[in-house]
Amino acid sequence: MKRAQKKQFHDFIAGRGLKSTRQRDIVLDVFLASDSHLSTEELYLKVRSKNPSIGYATVYRALKLFAECGIAREIHFGDGQSRYEHVVAGEHHDHMICTRCGAIQEFENESIELLQNAVAAQYGFHVETHKLEMYGICHACRQKT
Ligand SMILES: [Zn+2]
Ligand SMILES: [Zn+2]
Ligand SMILES: [Zn+2]
Repeated sequence: MKRAQKKQFHDFIAGRGLKSTRQRDIVLDVFLASDSHLSTEELYLKVRSKNPSIGYATVYRALKLFAECGIAREIHFGDGQSRYEHVVAGEHHDHMICTRCGAIQEFENESIELLQNAVAAQYGFHVETHKLEMYGICHACRQKT
């Protein structure tokens, strides 16, 4: 899976007439090895701990390229922070976001997916893509109060 994403990225870079760079490859490795939903800052800190010579701008630009290439998706959870998650072909999930600690829980629910399509169909609407985000208090935070 990671190898497929690397290949997709290298093909994309070649198709753009860009050169592969070692620094960008390191950013890609760290990104693919990380959990999803990283902000640029969070990825930068991880990259820096591996290779202090890589600057924030390099990480920022690499993430934009990953998103353009289709191996990453930029997501916004209403806190003004851009986050990036891996995109795996044919996979879909939605999110629950804790407004207290910021924890992000992924979920998949077949019934919700089917119901969304049924609702759209009632309006003669063809869904190409969607995001479902639920905001509230996560299990761990609820235990604390
Ligand atoms: Zn969904
Ligand atoms: Zn929480
Ligand atoms: Zn996700």
